[in-house]
Amino acid sequence: MTSTEQRLAAIRGDVPARRHNARTIAALTGNPGCTRRAVLDSAGVDKPKLAERIGFPARFGQSRFAISRGNAFEAQVKSDGGTELLRLVAERVGADPEEPATWTDLNAADPTDRYDRSRDLLTTAGDAPALFDHPLLSLEVAGQRVYLEPDLVAARLAGRWHVVEIKSFPVVDGQADPAKVAAAAIQSAVYVLALRELLAAAGHDPELVSPDVVLVCPRDFANQPVASLVDVRRQLLVLRRQLDRMARIDALLAGVPEDFTADPTAEPAALVAALRTVEARYAPDCLAACELAFFCRDEARGQTGALGRPVREALGGVATVADVLALADGVRPAEPGQAEAAALLRAAARLRAEALAQSSSGPGAFAQQPAGAGALAQQPAGAGAFAQPSAGAGALAGRSA
Ligand code: SF4
Repeated sequence: MTSTEQRLAAIRGDVPARRHNARTIAALTGNPGCTRRAVLDSAGVDKPKLAERIGFPARFGQSRFAISRGNAFEAQVKSDGGTELLRLVAERVGADPEEPATWTDLNAADPTDRYDRSRDLLTTAGDAPALFDHPLLSLEVAGQRVYLEPDLVAARLAGRWHVVEIKSFPVVDGQADPAKVAAAAIQSAVYVLALRELLAAAGHDPELVSPDVVLVCPRDFANQPVASLVDVRRQLLVLRRQLDRMARIDALLAGVPEDFTADPTAEPAALVAALRTVEARYAPDCLAACELAFFCRDEARGQTGALGRPVREALGGVATVADVLALADGVRPAEPGQAEAAALLRAAARLRAEALAQSSSGPGAFAQQPAGAGALAQQPAGAGAFAQPSAGAGALAGRSA
């Protein structure tokens, strides 16, 4: 064991390292600037257990209903031995859908040699069209080889490889839930990277694996499958950067106290004190991607960063909500570098005061609308805006077949 491995084992405590999968690797990219997360994930800490131990249990994950719906849709799409899937994928990537392709289910392979068999078949596949179901892939994460058991199909068509992901969220009028498309894109990027590394290790050109992944989802509210292309180039860059950062874990550990522990069997107060010694960068996105989100959100209360990246960037250099209010009221002078943010805040405060003065002095102002929760019903922007995703990551229009 190297000294780094010993250090990570000490951080993790007397429990086996939690193994990564494509979902957890994808989640690593959610907040690449967070040292706390990088250290905990590199050490294989059981973060759900840790969060529960310190009184902030995680509350996310796929419901059992969603898992069984996903399994049923996947079984339906593959039920005819992949014929319909081949047609959909071939049309989408511009290959001849009539050209016969072989179908190999690697899930049926002996589990002890499934990875070797996947590697052998994928790296020796000729140019003939071929689909491989459930190939076992692998990636190096923080010095550990992680095996990925995707429920995907790797398709070799028209001379290129495509990752095919089957998801059960619907595509309605060419649009899908942007958050779900984004999650599928980053997860698919994990597989693209793993497949590229597999081919590169065998002396093939890794660029043979297309960055356009094929997403197969139910169309509208029927169970009719529809294929869409999703470009994961950006996700590949973020993923590569975060994996490289975790590979340089020594540099991160240098800034972590020697006695830092995340052993879920330690006393909660000791764990909280230890966690606070490692820098975190909480953002609302953490709620969907990291088991420690409720703890970090509580810790970041009053910090502008906790309001999200756009707010943090707009207020560049103003760290706390108290400072924001003081600058807006003009009760504290701006520090060097805060002049622009301070001017904007003062202007916003002035506009708000004018608007409030006008609405309270105008005829019939708020006559129908007493103060309180009901007032929000008049405001178009806000949380309700998320209910109407339009263009963006979720827009699959024009790319579906
Ligand atoms: S929840 Fe906390 S530890 Fe996890 S990524 Fe966010 S800030 Fe980092």
